[in-house]
Amino acid sequence: MILIKTEEEIKIMAEAGKRLALVVRALKAMVKEGVTTYEIDREAKRLIEESGCIPAFLNYRPSGADRPYPATICTSINSGVVHGLPSGYALKSGDLLKLDLGLIYEKFYSDMAITVPIGKTSKEDQELISVTRGALEKGIAAAQPGNTLGDIGYAIGSFVKKNGFHVVDGLTGHGIGRKLHEDPYVFNEGLPGEWDVLKPGMVLALEPMVCAGKPRVKQLEDDSFVTADGSMAAHFEHTIAITEKGHRILTQA
Ligand code: MG
Repeated sequence: MILIKTEEEIKIMAEAGKRLALVVRALKAMVKEGVTTYEIDREAKRLIEESGCIPAFLNYRPSGADRPYPATICTSINSGVVHGLPSGYALKSGDLLKLDLGLIYEKFYSDMAITVPIGKTSKEDQELISVTRGALEKGIAAAQPGNTLGDIGYAIGSFVKKNGFHVVDGLTGHGIGRKLHEDPYVFNEGLPGEWDVLKPGMVLALEPMVCAGKPRVKQLEDDSFVTADGSMAAHFEHTIAITEKGHRILTQA
């Protein structure tokens, strides 16, 4: 069931999103060659707690997972798509780092992801990043009351395809609110007009995950997802609310 949030609840979620966007901005500024993903994780925890919030991913246990997530953020590198675990790995020039993080503010969750190129990256990788960011923008533009989840999926998927890349298989966006993952699944592909109709008060995390090669992903022993063919992947995510007039991006400062 897709939960409808009240105006008051969306106000809280907008504050949560603003605080998250500020943390993401600060992390982006510290990301450079030589920095380890563990250092970024430690700083994320400090910043989230400093802003009066609780890290959403730390100790989070999605249904089906063997163990709770042991870090504050996900740091997926190059062929890593999502759920990459921070480590002693030092970022190097040419890497694509995907930062995915969430927080809890006043019992409500917010979720956001960005892809950051490290040092000198190839033209194709820059294109992959820009198409993935563009796909999120297309998805958000389609997130209007009266439109459907299929319209969002179609907007994202057709834009990615048109630009010669692929949406990865099997990973989706989601509803969000008092839980990190609520109904519905927000697919990154679809047909116009199919699935649920979008209504004011729905809050959704849209998150295109796009790769340069084949769309198949595999899950590693540490639970992270990587492209099966080793091709580069990018990921952007915003938490948004459907409003009477259109939509509101909550994860922005
Ligand atoms: Mg998410």
